[in-house]
Amino acid sequence: MSQFASYLPALMVLLLPLAAWSGWIIARRGSERSSGVRVNELSSSYFRGLNYLLNEQPDKAIEVFLKLAEFNRDTVETHLALGNLFRRRGEVDRAIRVHQHLIARTNLSSEEKTVALLELGEDYMRAGLLDRAEALFIDLVAMEAQVPSALRHLIGIFQHERDWSKAIAHAHRLEEISDESQGALIAQFHCELAEQMRARGELDEAREQISHAFFSEARCVRASILLGQIERAEGRLEPAMNAFEDVADYDVDFVQEILSPLLDCYARAQQMQRAEKFLLGVMDKHQGISPVLALTRLYATTRSEPEAIQFLAGQLRQRPSVRGLVELIQASMGKSSGEARENYLILSDVTRKLLEGQALYRCTSCGFGAKAHHWQCPTCKNWNTIRPIHGVVGE
Ligand SMILES: [Zn+2]
Repeated sequence: MSQFASYLPALMVLLLPLAAWSGWIIARRGSERSSGVRVNELSSSYFRGLNYLLNEQPDKAIEVFLKLAEFNRDTVETHLALGNLFRRRGEVDRAIRVHQHLIARTNLSSEEKTVALLELGEDYMRAGLLDRAEALFIDLVAMEAQVPSALRHLIGIFQHERDWSKAIAHAHRLEEISDESQGALIAQFHCELAEQMRARGELDEAREQISHAFFSEARCVRASILLGQIERAEGRLEPAMNAFEDVADYDVDFVQEILSPLLDCYARAQQMQRAEKFLLGVMDKHQGISPVLALTRLYATTRSEPEAIQFLAGQLRQRPSVRGLVELIQASMGKSSGEARENYLILSDVTRKLLEGQALYRCTSCGFGAKAHHWQCPTCKNWNTIRPIHGVVGE
């Protein structure tokens, strides 16, 4: 999106009242010939500002429109749009001044005042003044004005402060007053609490948070992974395996996150047939290489090394993968000697270098690339948008 396009919504708001006002002034020209000079000045300013905008010169456009807004002090929308423009351009101090100036007016309707307060809150957030923003949004909710927007901002602030209990309470409130389901978001907040409790060794409390997460989102992948980890740590292998297997059912893309602990559970419970059945089932619905590699290792122990290599080579023809190739080279190297072994070593080095520095995950919302999985994208702050990258060098 061009810079101009990103300004467009704010500018439309800015232009409409000015256009109407300018038209009104021009219409009055006939009856008020004495003010003709000033009218000409204003309408030419308006078109000059418009021209700057069309030429993607927002700096000059802002200058002109600021002057216009001074002439017509009643144009609330103009002030709001100007403040919005300043904030988008990162000139937060100017945005704050415009909005504070607007709020201080005595002739605002209560609707206009709450819109200005909401804008001021957004300025504070942008300036990093979260305490002030929080107080302002709490006031708006108490006044029952702009409640959905104020609640959304408050939820954002509490996430930033990692105050998950408050985030949960406000997300429930938002769900009550709007038609939007917040279940998936609330489940993530409960999982955050569960992880904190698990780290402190408070496993019963962690389980309770996991139950809340499932209540908010019945097929919550993260809650299932957490439950599997807790059950496994306590040596309860059957419920651990069930929880991990559920992950593949809820969202097969996350299977690589649970393969290692799940295979450990299968091995400890001596359920290798169940392991094979699970991995074959995952391969049917998942194009990634992780289940193939896991099955190769399984066949190397339950069948024989040559059979495992044969299986891997056959699979690599259907799903080309550098990670699979590394594994195949490694297995073949073990059986070779002399010059052949040297060549395998070179191949192994080259393929490993291919994988170095490669992002394994990408955010579907903003494109952020990561080597490890995050439940919340560090860049766009969306939850559950970071997914494994599929393809020859990915999963
Ligand atoms: Zn993102």
